[in-house]
Amino acid sequence: MTPITLITGASRGIGAATARLCAQHGHRVVINYARDAQAAEEVARQVRAAGGEALTVQADVSQEADVLRLFDAIDRHWGRLTGLVNNAGVVDVAARVEDYSMARLQRMFAINVFGSFLCAREAVRRMSTRHGGAGGAIVNVSSVAARGGGANQYVDYAASKGAIDTFTIGLSKEVAAEGIRVNAVRPGITDTEIHASGGQPDRAWNLASQIPMQRPGHPEEIAQAICWLLSDAASYTTGALLDVGGGR
Ligand code: NAP
Repeated sequence: MTPITLITGASRGIGAATARLCAQHGHRVVINYARDAQAAEEVARQVRAAGGEALTVQADVSQEADVLRLFDAIDRHWGRLTGLVNNAGVVDVAARVEDYSMARLQRMFAINVFGSFLCAREAVRRMSTRHGGAGGAIVNVSSVAARGGGANQYVDYAASKGAIDTFTIGLSKEVAAEGIRVNAVRPGITDTEIHASGGQPDRAWNLASQIPMQRPGHPEEIAQAICWLLSDAASYTTGALLDVGGGR
C-alpha cells in the first residue's frame, strides 16, 4: 500500500525538506501551507520532477473549518491518509513574559498546539482500526526549547512545544492498540526562515557557538528523523521524543 502522508507547513523549511524526503521514500505527499502558494507549488514541482506524487492544499491549521476542508481534500484525492507530520509552527519576536499580549498568546497556541490537536484528531478518525482504518503514524514537530524554556526570548513558544511533548505521550498511549504510532522530533536550532519571522534572520548562525556541534541543523537532517519515525523501521517506537539538536 502506498503511504499517503500529510505534512503541515510544508511550503518551506523543515516541512518542505520532509515532503521531499518522504516522496523519495515512496510516499504520496500532501503539502499544506497557510499563505505562500507559490512556494508550496515549487515544493510540489520538485517532488514531481523527482518522480513522486504531490498534492498542495492551502489551510490555516488553527482554523477548524480549514482543517476539515484539508482532510476532505485528501479523502477525495487519495483516500484515507496513513501519515501525519504536525510541522506547521510559528515563533514571535523576542519578548519577556511580562510584555506578552493576549493576541500573541492566542496566535501561538492556536497554531502550534490547537492546530496539531485538530490535525491529529482528523488523522486518528481515518487511521484508527476503531474507525475502520488501517493504522498509521503521526510525528509531531516539537523543539528542544520545550526543555530549555526560552527565557527572555519566547517562553510562550517553548511552552507550546512542552504541550506538544505531553500531547505526544498521551495520544501515543491512547491509540497504540489501534495501529497508530505517535512520536515527536525535537529539533535544535535549524537553519530556516522561522528566525527571520521572529525578527532575527541570523539567529541560527549567531547561536552556533552555543551548540555542541558548533553549527545549526539543516532542514534535511530533521527530515531524516521524521521520515524514520514515519517508517516501518520504527515499528516498535511510539511515545518517543527524539532530540535532533547537534547535542544541545
Ligand atoms: P518556517 O521555515 O517558518 O516554515 C513554517 C511553515 O509553516 C511554512 O510552510 C508556513 O507556511 C507554515 N505555516 C505557518 N503558519 C501556518 C498555519 N497557521 N497553518 C498552516 N501552515 C502554517 O519554519 P521551520 O523552521 O521549518 O519550522 C517547522 C517546525 O519546526 C515548527 O513547528 C517549528 O516550531 C519547529 N522548530 C523549528 C526550529 C528551527 O530552528 N527552525 C527549531 C525547533 C523546532 P506559509 O509560509 O504558507 O504560511
